[in-house]
Amino acid sequence: MAVLDHTSTLESIRKKVAAGERLDFEDGLALFESDDLLALGELADGARRVRGGTDDVFFVQNLYLNQTNVCRVKCKFCAFAATRRQEHAYTLSAAELVEDALRQRELTEFTEIHMVNGESPHVDFSFYVDTVRALHEAMPDVHLKLYTASEIHHMTRLSGLTHEEVLRELASAGLGSLPGGGAEIFAERVRKLVAPGKEHPDFWFHTHETAHRLGIPTHCTMLYGHVETYEERVDHLLRLREQQDRTRGFLAFIPLAFHPENTVFERRGWRHTTGADDLKVLAVSRLLLDNIPNVKAYWIMMGMPLAAVALHFGANDVQGTVVREEIFHAAGARTETEQKVEQLVRFVQEAGRVPVQRDTLYNELRRWQ
Ligand code: SF4
Repeated sequence: MAVLDHTSTLESIRKKVAAGERLDFEDGLALFESDDLLALGELADGARRVRGGTDDVFFVQNLYLNQTNVCRVKCKFCAFAATRRQEHAYTLSAAELVEDALRQRELTEFTEIHMVNGESPHVDFSFYVDTVRALHEAMPDVHLKLYTASEIHHMTRLSGLTHEEVLRELASAGLGSLPGGGAEIFAERVRKLVAPGKEHPDFWFHTHETAHRLGIPTHCTMLYGHVETYEERVDHLLRLREQQDRTRGFLAFIPLAFHPENTVFERRGWRHTTGADDLKVLAVSRLLLDNIPNVKAYWIMMGMPLAAVALHFGANDVQGTVVREEIFHAAGARTETEQKVEQLVRFVQEAGRVPVQRDTLYNELRRWQ
């Protein structure tokens, strides 16, 4: 049997990257199979620069909200969802949510609200439209990045409207963009194992494609580190790349590491991803996703020290100040939930990069030399 020569494979990938050639499925697989972590980091950082990247590292001042944790879907990797009868279940009204956000606004000058929720069967579509309108009216200068593609799909089921009609209504109430959650891993084998109650991935793509066509930018993600194979990771990334070729509406890609605590997988003895795998996923994502301008090192998930290292593995964004985060912390994330601007600036500068505060659409607001 022929032994795969990883050194010469990485060398041929290096030549492709330098020439601006697109990497293919086999290249992606070879990258994931390589244990030469430093070479992967160097390749990814090189690819970022060949494609016009600089030393700028972006972050946004934002507030994370969750309006309800009540959810009908029961994804096996989720430690956040609750049924309505459980003691920790909650659903806030639009007025309560706005009041909470306004209280936070007195403390921090966030420019973005990021909100995802459980898919509650006990609300109707007006619950969502009223919420968007109330947030927008209370804070018209704050960008509303709300609702995953799965939630949008859920709203079509609650209302009987199409994805386009739902998105149009939300946009006219003040929605600015969609976060990238709900993608998980697109491969059917994996979805059946970890999220059997979730809709077919075609709906995820249809929602994002429709949003892009309507001029609503979105984000995209991959939840890794559970049952997926390297082949399934590459397939996931290439499907995102194909979508971006068609519609060009993804602002950023965010790899999300699976956290097993308080999920059924914890009882099976599953562990967190390793830092090496986190860095590898970032590097390979940057190398394969040649048409998505920004790759985020999500410090909520990996912690700020590793996120700083990730800036040398293809990442150019450390997300934001967040303030509160429940979903990964319910699943055992030990990171802080608020990074003040000065802390983010210090981390980025100590990684040898230039901190740039941005708005959601990547317009520069402030820069530190
Ligand atoms: S991941 Fe989302 S859809 Fe799945 S159970 Fe949790 S809250 Fe519900």
